[in-house]
Amino acid sequence: MARTTGPVCRLCRREGMKLFLKGTRCDTPKCAIERRNTPPGQQPPRRGKQTDYGTHLREKQKLKHYYGVLERQFRTYYAMAARSKGNTGDRLLTLLERRLDNVVHRLGFGLSRAQARQMVNHGHVTVNGRRVDIPSYLTKAGDVIRIKNRVKSLQLLRTNLADNQRAVPDFLSRVDGAMPEGVVTRLPEAFDASLPVQTQLIVELCSK
Ligand code: SF4
Repeated sequence: MARTTGPVCRLCRREGMKLFLKGTRCDTPKCAIERRNTPPGQQPPRRGKQTDYGTHLREKQKLKHYYGVLERQFRTYYAMAARSKGNTGDRLLTLLERRLDNVVHRLGFGLSRAQARQMVNHGHVTVNGRRVDIPSYLTKAGDVIRIKNRVKSLQLLRTNLADNQRAVPDFLSRVDGAMPEGVVTRLPEAFDASLPVQTQLIVELCSK
C-alpha cells in the first residue's frame, strides 16, 4: 500500500530536513523524513541542478518554515540581527529562539510551534505573571513562563507534558508539579537552536 505524506511533511521533504511541524509524530519512526530511505522504489523526485540563488534561498526558507515566520517578519528579524553586534547569522538564530511561541514549545508546553503559537494567541500563556498573547514576544533572561490557572489550559498542558519526549534546552529550565513553570535562564546562543542551516548563506542573500 502506498504511504501517504501530508502537506506538512512534504514541506520537510522539500527542505530536506526535519522541521518538527507535527508534534509527537516527528519523534517517531512514522516521521516522513525518517522513512525517506526505506520505501523501496519510492524515491523523492529528483530536482534539477540548483542555482546559486536557489541554494541561498533554500536555507532561508528552511529557517522560516522551522520557526513559522512570514517573509516580512523574517526581514524584521534580519534587520535587527544586522544592527546588533556579533555574527549576523548567529544573532538571527538567537532572535528566533527567543520568540515566546518557540520558548513555549521548547519547554514542552506545546507539542509543536504551531500549537504553542495557538496557546499564546488564545491567552493560555503568562510571562512574569501577566498574560502575553503575542507569539513574537521576545523573551528575556529571567522571564518566568506559566500556563494560566484555568482548567482547560492546565488540562492541555498536562497532556502535552506527558506526550513530550524532547529534552528542555540549556537556556531554559522547567519545574514540573501542580503548576509547571519555565524560566529563561539565559539568552539563547546560536548553538542552542542546533539547526542544520547554513546561516552564512542567508546573510549573503539578505544583505544584497
Ligand atoms: Fe512530518 Fe514532523 Fe517528520 Fe517533518 S519532522 S516529516 S513534520 S513527522
